[in-house]
Amino acid sequence: MNISCASCHVRLKKDRIGIHVIEYNARGMYRLYRANLLGCPLCGHQVVSGYSQATTVDGTPPSRALLDIALTDPYHVCIYEDQEQREWFEPGDNP
Ligand SMILES: [Zn+2]
Repeated sequence: MNISCASCHVRLKKDRIGIHVIEYNARGMYRLYRANLLGCPLCGHQVVSGYSQATTVDGTPPSRALLDIALTDPYHVCIYEDQEQREWFEPGDNP
């Protein structure tokens, strides 16, 4: 898969493989994924790509213990439903 920086016209490089991704929905529930962090070698813009299957079993949310493990990953990324939800959660990543 080619992912390129539209500003710099170069392909993004893999900065980090297998980061934790915590995706929150509008109700504050979360799903966990592993994914790759890609970065532009020129401007530093980063994107998350290559998502794994969500760590959800039979519709049951992942445990708080798994969330805590994800949050301790220094490269984890939190994904929010929209800007309003993001502002509600920040500062910090603790729900
Ligand atoms: Zn760039």
